[in-house]
Amino acid sequence: MIVVGAGPAGSSAALTCRKAGLAVALIDKARFPRGKLCGGGITGRARGHLDAVFGPVLDPRLFHETRRLRLMAGDREIGALEDTPPLWMTMRQDFDAALLAQAHAAGVEDYSGRRIASLDVETGSAVLTDGQVLRGRVMIGADGVNSGTARALFGRAYDPRRIGFALEAELDAPADAAPRAELDLTAARWGYGWAFPKLHGVTLGIGGQAGRNRDLRPRFDAWLVARGVDPARVVVKGHHLPMGDPRPPPGRGIVLLVGDAAGFVDPITGEGIGWAVRSGQLAAEAAAVALAAAQPEQALARYLDAVAPVQRELSRARFLARVVYHPLLQQRFLNLIAGSPRIQRRFLDLMAGTIDYADLGPAHFARLGWRLVTGRG
Ligand SMILES: Cc1cc2nc3c(=O)[nH]c(=O)nc-3n(C[C@H](O)[C@H](O)[C@H](O)COP(=O)(O)OP(=O)(O)OC[C@H]3O[C@@H](n4cnc5c(N)ncnc54)[C@H](O)[C@@H]3O)c2cc1C
Repeated sequence: MIVVGAGPAGSSAALTCRKAGLAVALIDKARFPRGKLCGGGITGRARGHLDAVFGPVLDPRLFHETRRLRLMAGDREIGALEDTPPLWMTMRQDFDAALLAQAHAAGVEDYSGRRIASLDVETGSAVLTDGQVLRGRVMIGADGVNSGTARALFGRAYDPRRIGFALEAELDAPADAAPRAELDLTAARWGYGWAFPKLHGVTLGIGGQAGRNRDLRPRFDAWLVARGVDPARVVVKGHHLPMGDPRPPPGRGIVLLVGDAAGFVDPITGEGIGWAVRSGQLAAEAAAVALAAAQPEQALARYLDAVAPVQRELSRARFLARVVYHPLLQQRFLNLIAGSPRIQRRFLDLMAGTIDYADLGPAHFARLGWRLVTGRG
């Protein structure tokens, strides 16, 4: 097996392959620990997927846990909750390195810090820049939003009309200087802003659909200033994220795409770590079954079946995003949240992963639609 990309999706896929007894080469152009621009927010949902693959053995010192969350609409507080389901905040540099270390400890072959010169998606082979050739009967593309594997399959890594973009800055404040997580639902168009407390600082960011946020940098600067942060004194970085931009289908032939390479990011919350781990696991399990039957060409069909519930969940979220973020409805939605602790709770349960979009049945959507149309809370 070849897995390209050693973020959460790739480490999950590679470790799952090893557990099934397969030989796996895990290639990443970076040496770890490596930085990855990310809020590092881990929901209960993501934690469940992590535990399923890596076991509940991740060092607790990787996480800052918070149960306090403030919902904002600009400078207006629309909700403050003190006992939310737990959210864990991590620094991706350390977190990703810990996941990868577990994969290596299980016997995954380490090709980190190695660059790929060419990828043949028809034969499942990768030629590294030093001339070494790796061949897999199945290949898993876990190489993130700018996936070279997706480009080799479909000619492009993402749809520029739907892709998201986010900016972030890290502040060196002790965690108790910003003890609660904060979400600002109006910081960006079709997106939001966040302040996530970490063990040794705070991550501030805003992000949304790239095409609707051409002015994201000046918006972010103004948002920082409103929080008393001088934009000139922090390092601002940007990165795409495929919120609401899934690949249909996530793979071709003997190549399966997982995580950001497949576009598995929640279009409302931008959450992608949990889906990366889950899709990596599902792809590896599908490949293991297909290879055990000596039918590598069956891996994709098995993966598509297994990953369909993830795709359904993300398409429900895409539907709801049109309500939460549509400019004609957003003000009413924010008023509803502000006026109803029940809706606040529901929204937070969704964000924290205590409930899924599937748990909001048609009756919930109908009720929400009625309230938005009538303006009644
Ligand atoms: C600003 C921002 C904030 C975010 N906040 C959150 C959050 O709070 N919570 C959350 O759940 N999600 C968040 N996300 C989304 C989350 O970061 C991604 O969904 C997640 O990292 C996806 O994991 P992955 O393994 O698929 O890809 P990645 O983590 O991007 O890993 C891909 C790996 O592939 C490697 N690679 C790329 N190209 C090649 C190549 N040619 N050859 C070899 N290796 C290659 C890279 O070096 C990298 O290590 C955020 C994203 C952004 C941009």
